[in-house]
Amino acid sequence: MRTSKTGQNHSITEDRIIRTNFHSHTTRCNHAIGSDEDYVKSAIKAGYQQLGISDHSPFPDHMGQVSGMRMHVTEFPDYLASSRGLKAQYADQLDIFIGLEAEYYPQYHSWLIAQKEQEQLDFLILGSHYDDPVEQNYFGGITTPDMVRRYVRHTISGLETGDFCALAHPELFMISYPRFDKHCQAACRELIRAAKALQIPLEYNLSGLYTQPWRRGPGYPTPGFWEMVAEEGAKAIIGLDAHDPARYDDTHVYDQAVSDLTRMGIPLVKSLVPCARKHKQAI
Ligand SMILES: [Zn+2]
Ligand SMILES: [Zn+2]
Repeated sequence: MRTSKTGQNHSITEDRIIRTNFHSHTTRCNHAIGSDEDYVKSAIKAGYQQLGISDHSPFPDHMGQVSGMRMHVTEFPDYLASSRGLKAQYADQLDIFIGLEAEYYPQYHSWLIAQKEQEQLDFLILGSHYDDPVEQNYFGGITTPDMVRRYVRHTISGLETGDFCALAHPELFMISYPRFDKHCQAACRELIRAAKALQIPLEYNLSGLYTQPWRRGPGYPTPGFWEMVAEEGAKAIIGLDAHDPARYDDTHVYDQAVSDLTRMGIPLVKSLVPCARKHKQAI
């Protein structure tokens, strides 16, 4: 129960829930479906107020290697043109922001930031799937404590650049790691504390609530991780990680997440717009 400004007690379910999502893909990443416009239409239909488009960032082909899980650099202009077109076309129905879900690759980080500035992107979120552009070790496939520590160290380095407004699926390694054991707990405590100190929200990723055929471990959201987030007083942001426009239709999943996080006492960040503004002023 919460107390409103008028002094009346009411539960979260009686409030009109404001829905926002800053984690939304396009087919350019090669593992999403639906047209760019379908995502926007679905978000409007479901009553979302803010949509941040954040497909997997392009990077230069590393030693000639073309990544299979992100837009190619040659598709970036079309991604921008399409997103800008939709932003203008639907301006009276939905606030659209244009960003990217990017890796932290130290050797390409200045390239990424140059793109962000040149194209006036609104925001970046960190999706720490790999720690090098060869894409040798997918963090969703790791099963050893050493690799969990490597994931956490790398991810904290990415957050410390100050260039990311949120951390996508912080428990990505739980896709394959067998259980949230003491090694995960120690590493995640460090990650959560770093995110809190840097004031970067941790994403409560709703795509993990759906059946994922590639999942071998318990997956995410991981209850033990979120108990720790609550203990540490770090903030959360809800992300659909939509690779399918139909995810917007499932408003009960979103609303349940709001209710669960509220019950756990985890403060919720609803918008990355303040972070985007701060970054723009800093340029
Ligand atoms: Zn993806
Ligand atoms: Zn994503």
